[in-house]
Amino acid sequence: MSAADLVSVVEPPAPLALGRIALFLDLDGTLAPIAPRPDAVGYEPRRSRLLERLIGALDGRLAIVSGRSLADIDRILADVHPVVSAVHGLVIRTAEGVATSTVDPRQLDRARQVLGAFAARDPGLLVEDKEISLALHYRLAPACEPEAVRLVEGLAAELGWEFQPGRAVAELRPPGPDKGDSVRRLMATAPFAGAVPVFVGDDITDEDGFRAAAELGGFGVVVGARRDTLASYRLKDVAAVLDWLERPLS
Ligand SMILES: [Mg+2]
Repeated sequence: MSAADLVSVVEPPAPLALGRIALFLDLDGTLAPIAPRPDAVGYEPRRSRLLERLIGALDGRLAIVSGRSLADIDRILADVHPVVSAVHGLVIRTAEGVATSTVDPRQLDRARQVLGAFAARDPGLLVEDKEISLALHYRLAPACEPEAVRLVEGLAAELGWEFQPGRAVAELRPPGPDKGDSVRRLMATAPFAGAVPVFVGDDITDEDGFRAAAELGGFGVVVGARRDTLASYRLKDVAAVLDWLERPLS
């Protein structure tokens, strides 16, 4: 992405025309407010009913695209089981089944020990073990941020893995697909193929999704405060996203 491609968008998107689009939705900060700890996000009936109705109206052309693990996404959505790109695209679930990027989990053993020892220092630190990646959360221990970031960056360099920064989280993940690759991969298969992709998200990693959606004839919707982005439209918060997604169903 070059700086020339980035614009600070302000306009909200028009109401969705569900007949020809495919929806790619980030979870945290998009469909759920950012919580102090990742496990503080739980089942919310309005969200799950909305997703269920959208999946029906879109003939299945809806995917959740998140950095969370598949099990965690299923815990939060409870009784609705959409197509999912989990752990930043390292795990994909379609109607055909679950495909996981090949990673030797033993590679993470040392990093698990190092991060566990670091997190034991402060009750505000939390290591989220996604089996094929490790996320160090420091939202409740903001003073630890510089050291947390340095530690995960160092482990990434040592392993030849990637350091993935997030919102008050530093993650160690194997090299592999990003959220844009998930969009391209799903758009090449039924029931997504031929639709117009719309990607909605709030994270820096969602910029890859915005770019992929635009390249495939669709567009991105950034959620949150104004920032330079590849998205074409902006919604100000989670409530605005839910209202916008509910409008074409009413
Ligand atoms: Mg997010």
